[in-house]
Amino acid sequence: MRGVVFLGDRKVEMRNFPDPTPGPGEVVVEMKASGMCGSDLKFYRSPPGAAQAALGLGDLKDPFIGGHEPCGVVVARGAGVSEKEAPTGMRIMDHHYSGCGICNHCRVGWSQLCRAGITVYGVTAHGGHADYFKVPARTIVELPEELSFAEGAAVACGTGTAYGALRRMNLLGGETLAVFGQGPVGLSATVLGTAMGARVIAVETNAERMKLAREFGADAVIDAAKENVETAIKDLTRGVGADQALECSGAAPARRAAVRCVKTWGTACYVGEGGDVTLDVSPDLLRRQVTLIGSWTFSAMGMRECADFVAKKRIPLERIFSHKWRLEQADEAYKLFDKQSTGKGVFLF
Ligand SMILES: [Zn+2]
Ligand SMILES: [Zn+2]
Repeated sequence: MRGVVFLGDRKVEMRNFPDPTPGPGEVVVEMKASGMCGSDLKFYRSPPGAAQAALGLGDLKDPFIGGHEPCGVVVARGAGVSEKEAPTGMRIMDHHYSGCGICNHCRVGWSQLCRAGITVYGVTAHGGHADYFKVPARTIVELPEELSFAEGAAVACGTGTAYGALRRMNLLGGETLAVFGQGPVGLSATVLGTAMGARVIAVETNAERMKLAREFGADAVIDAAKENVETAIKDLTRGVGADQALECSGAAPARRAAVRCVKTWGTACYVGEGGDVTLDVSPDLLRRQVTLIGSWTFSAMGMRECADFVAKKRIPLERIFSHKWRLEQADEAYKLFDKQSTGKGVFLF
């Protein structure tokens, strides 16, 4: 089979691999869509293994097949996997983590929190940028029939991450939500938050992404390169501040502004990976009773819940994809994504 490997330092390469055969407890998935997630840029840009180490995800150095938003169809089962558990032909998304399988975190579907050590498919083990993909059967989640494979791929990380954060924030209809960064996760938060009944203020610096945010329902869009974001949000909220803010860019100034732009008793949540932030703790947090949340993706069933929400609310998630690629275009696809000026990209098979 073909697989796209990340060689580090902005190099990707299509290579040939033996077709995977499922071991005990595993399934093989024929890939139909494999999304490009913002966090892939960290693995793409850095020297081999450096981004994984910086994110606390092991010390992998061998080239691996990228892609941690896998969506496809079950084609083979290993020993101990029943037809009922993983029927041949079932349309699935993959919850792209596996842990020990028996601890409390694993058993409730939060395997990425397993303390026995985790595998992250597409990050520390072969991922979805390939014709076939082998994973433990317990990581697969059925894709609702209303969703396309590309939409399932988006839910498998970027869109699911936005949904998981909004649920952790207990976003209410009628609240004002500021979303910092309108890449694939931020745009998802804009469209999901709007569908949940919030008034969304989108913050971005790229013109193309600002346009997408408007199309996805943002009530107001702030150009962070030209405006003072905190003042602009105060002006849009009668001087009160946003009820909640979700920070998706990972940039330190945006993180600080996300905390400062919320009202007294407001909530800010970080999902952007890596880096740091400096806060003036007393005025930024304590004096205003601000709640600050860190949120890392979603559980296996949280992913299904997100997919069901997209289906029920008829969210046109296909529109998040500005680019659909073939696997042999991986080099071109990542070069463009690296500019961070477009919508989301996906490989279709
Ligand atoms: Zn575990
Ligand atoms: Zn991701």
